[in-house]
Amino acid sequence: MESRFLCPKCRSDLKIRDHLIFATETERGLRGVMLISPELGNYTIIHDDKFNFIEGEHVDFFCPVCHENLAMSDVDKDLAEVLMIDEKGEEYKIVFSEIAGKKCTIKLKDDKIIESYGEDADHYTNFWGVTPRY
Ligand SMILES: [Zn+2]
Repeated sequence: MESRFLCPKCRSDLKIRDHLIFATETERGLRGVMLISPELGNYTIIHDDKFNFIEGEHVDFFCPVCHENLAMSDVDKDLAEVLMIDEKGEEYKIVFSEIAGKKCTIKLKDDKIIESYGEDADHYTNFWGVTPRY
């Protein structure tokens, strides 16, 4: 079984075939659908050409099913979260940046960092203690 990605609020599946699907809105009020790769550290995003958000712009992510905002506002206003359940049935929190163009993905288990991806991840990992380095 492949990994599942769920809304943390309603636990609906956000992964349809090869993409995670989000309803989004930019800080300028532009709305659109974003398809994101479920592969952690892959920042390929698919969206309509008319949905032309700007690099560095804050984008709010919403569950397309329950419409809840996925922001982790208690941690940082620029981070959002989804749940991931891997092939073994283990549940993780996947945290990502809501700033367009920022490459940051953090995989958490019980609020401890398991893995982080992306060149901008170091800006955020200190919220959960130090990432182990060897
Ligand atoms: Zn939901």
